[in-house]
Amino acid sequence: MRAPTIRAISAVPCPFSLLDPSTGLQELRQIHAQLLVNDHLADSRKLGKFAAAVALSRHYKPSSTPPIDYAELIISHSPAQPNVFSLNSLIRAHSKGPTPLRGFLFFRQILHSSGNLLPDNYTFTFLVRCCVGLPSNSGGAAVHAAALRRGFAGDSHVQSGLIHVYAELGLLDCCRRVYGEMGQPDLVSQTAMVAATARCGEIELAREMFDEMPTRDSVAWNAMIAGFEQLGRPREALKVFLQMQTEGSAEINEATVVSVLAACGQIGALGCGRWAHHYVSKARLRMTVALGTALVDMYAKCGDMGRAMEVFDEMPERNVTTWSAAINGLALNGAGEDCLALFRRMEEEGPRPNEITFLALLRGCSSAGMVEQGLGIFDRMRGYYQVQPWQEHYGCLVDLYGRAGRLDEAAAVIESMPSEPHIGAWSALLSSCRTHNNKELGELAAFKITELEAKNDGAYVQLYNIYAGSGNWAAAGGVRDMMRTRGVSKEPGCSAVEISGKLHEFFSGDRSHSRQAELEAMAEEVARRLRAVGYVPATSLVMFDLEEEEKEDALARHSERIAIAFALLNSPEGEIIRVVKNLRVCIDCHEASKLISLVFRRDIIVRDRSRFHHYKDGKCSCRDYW
Ligand code: ZN
Ligand code: ZN
Repeated sequence: MRAPTIRAISAVPCPFSLLDPSTGLQELRQIHAQLLVNDHLADSRKLGKFAAAVALSRHYKPSSTPPIDYAELIISHSPAQPNVFSLNSLIRAHSKGPTPLRGFLFFRQILHSSGNLLPDNYTFTFLVRCCVGLPSNSGGAAVHAAALRRGFAGDSHVQSGLIHVYAELGLLDCCRRVYGEMGQPDLVSQTAMVAATARCGEIELAREMFDEMPTRDSVAWNAMIAGFEQLGRPREALKVFLQMQTEGSAEINEATVVSVLAACGQIGALGCGRWAHHYVSKARLRMTVALGTALVDMYAKCGDMGRAMEVFDEMPERNVTTWSAAINGLALNGAGEDCLALFRRMEEEGPRPNEITFLALLRGCSSAGMVEQGLGIFDRMRGYYQVQPWQEHYGCLVDLYGRAGRLDEAAAVIESMPSEPHIGAWSALLSSCRTHNNKELGELAAFKITELEAKNDGAYVQLYNIYAGSGNWAAAGGVRDMMRTRGVSKEPGCSAVEISGKLHEFFSGDRSHSRQAELEAMAEEVARRLRAVGYVPATSLVMFDLEEEEKEDALARHSERIAIAFALLNSPEGEIIRVVKNLRVCIDCHEASKLISLVFRRDIIVRDRSRFHHYKDGKCSCRDYW
């Protein structure tokens, strides 16, 4: 009675023809059943092929058995000895999964198999990739040694993988050694070396190698874009991206877009960020967690918090980084209450918050002046979540008290810090002392900062402003002299404004713009209309000891004022003006911007070094609290 049944099933086409990485779990189960019935899995070649297909299957529901576990079960329950191919597939699958260390178990199985299996070049290629996700550098070196011993260290895939591993560990010299041992580096290894060099921060060198490559794929382009972006050089990152688009030979993929969005966020280039978002929809890129998080972060940092939250709510899946990015965005935009509301939602439905989440929450409370709530968050972090505070968390506490004028408590936080207080904590205290005119504590904080970092220009500027604010010009002049003798120069103010997708940058006091005459006329017009509504420049805060009549002029030349004047000239009425400034907004520019928003009926959004100011109808979202 059995024979006909088997013959009937055997008549079905070979199930292997149905296998590819897009095969779903349901189909894999059916194929598995057929293979079992036909006794195919007793053949180690077929077992290998099937286990590999399962291990590398891309489609599974989070609720079902992960493909790797399923593949491992198939192998461990099979009568046949797995071959090297199937074990390699498991190593490969683990190298891409969350548990790369488990890949080594199958390497061991190869070495200790009773069937005298031998590792091959693929084994080492995949094993090297498993090392990338490991935090220690001993893994990479051990695999390198094993590959050498077995004669596979000269395989170009193994070498490219090693370059990648050493780059992740910041060991550029090791990368160079491996690369130097390659006779004729192919495209893959050239790309690996460019990526490694960029990853280790040697971006100029990476650029040279990149420019010399005969052809460049997405990986190489992405390495350059990410390299510039991670070094805080977003303009150059976007320039490389523009070049990538112009050449058009490499595909723009998820990794490209993620780096481009991060660069847009750094620089406040909303137009470019929107374009990237549009591209994601047009190219039908899958909304992965990384991509969605990058979008949330970009919109938040460009001051469009509404859109950021829309993307956040539409994301099919979010992780702790996504939640933290959204909370941080709300904090930057001064929406303290919304920060706390989103955190409550996270506690109900989201992942466990981490250090970064709490930093964002503390910043949110601090920027909205919510002292008690901030203290509550700090307690909850240490008590309920058992998260140990970093120095940055203490810095936020100092800021929280300091902004609220509770300077003694701010100073007490610094004293209570378990490790040596860092510049951030002292800087927070110093800023508060400037806002609340506390000379003694301010002097102490400035002294501590310059002790830690002799050329910290921000500390001198703040101290100068404390003296200048109280009319103590002799002491202010002393700070100026000290800066001169110590060779400290003030970082020039720079503001960028985007007009129809193009970024324009202005430096404080710069008079070299190609449309200087027009700009001067507009600045004059702004000044005239502000005076008409009673604006008086706060000349006491001018940084350098200029003659009195020059002071007003110098204030009007702060970079964001020039950027706003330029935007008033060049953007259609009613359009929001978005400015990104490298320094903190000064009190005078803050007053002037509020009035401009009223007089010219324009919403103005300025992102300074630490937060956003949304100016509208003569008021600012920070409620003059920054
Ligand atoms: Zn200013
Ligand atoms: Zn403000």
